[in-house]
Amino acid sequence: MMEPTKIRPKLVYSPGYDIRWLGIEKLHPLDGCKYGRTWKVLLDRFGDKLQSATITPTAATVELLQTIHTPEYLQQLTNSHYVAQVLELSSLDWVPNGILDRHVLQPMRLATMGTVIAAETALETGIAINLSGGYHHARRDLGAGFCVYSDIAIAIASLRQSGQLTATDSIAIIDLDAHQGNGLARIFECDRTVHILDMYNQNIYPQDRRAIERIDRNLPLTSGTRDAEYLDKLQQYLPSFLSSIERPKIAFYNAGTDIYEDDPLGRLKISAEGVLARDRFVFQTLVAARIPVVMVLSGGYTSESYQLVAKSVGEVWETWGL
Ligand SMILES: [Zn+2]
Repeated sequence: MMEPTKIRPKLVYSPGYDIRWLGIEKLHPLDGCKYGRTWKVLLDRFGDKLQSATITPTAATVELLQTIHTPEYLQQLTNSHYVAQVLELSSLDWVPNGILDRHVLQPMRLATMGTVIAAETALETGIAINLSGGYHHARRDLGAGFCVYSDIAIAIASLRQSGQLTATDSIAIIDLDAHQGNGLARIFECDRTVHILDMYNQNIYPQDRRAIERIDRNLPLTSGTRDAEYLDKLQQYLPSFLSSIERPKIAFYNAGTDIYEDDPLGRLKISAEGVLARDRFVFQTLVAARIPVVMVLSGGYTSESYQLVAKSVGEVWETWGL
């Protein structure tokens, strides 16, 4: 069993995570460079120690993607029109697929592998943070809401395939992105060893009723929810969720910062201090319960998103990494 004293947080990051090409990063509210920006803030603050605790992934292979996604779906991703639709960027229709693949899908395949590596690592070190990923709307045969590959589902499949997890080992997904993680809920619709807690704004995308029925601990919020109510709910329900299920061998934490008050898509009203308090509570709860945790970034659509992430990750480093 992992001892809290042995926690050695690791980061997973590649400069290739950033999506920047001909101003594509300006077309979507997503800051395509938030990954690199977060990394730079952390590196400036922690220097060599952080660098030596960081793992650089290679891109996920087709074989790995096929542990979750259908061949037909992966074939569809060679069609620019389809990819543009998934990315919600119809203006990319005209772009040759090879270019989209290199500049948009390749960073996502790197990030997907990043989540796989973070999951393998967390089992040994207690905490691993992938500075990207969290594509929780992607399904086996459908991309949506800027999510192409289901990195968390692929990581789970990979751990099972390698024998690091058995098919019956309990797994937790704690999804605190502002949007409901409907892709994951659907992928694991019939897999009850995966336990899902999802707290999200029910007034925004995706409002997927079938997915909502699958969530083990469903915590819908309304637009405009503020810190006190948000943190109360989290503090009340996360511990009871964890004690209501078989002790998870690993927890995936989808730490979307689109709950932030200025976020144009999330529409919640959580302050920067609130975001930090949320992340602190999740890490402290999981570490106290000796559950290895993998954090992924998921949504966050303001120019300050990277600062929020860097603050939370920085605190993890100060608490357990130094
Ligand atoms: Zn989101």
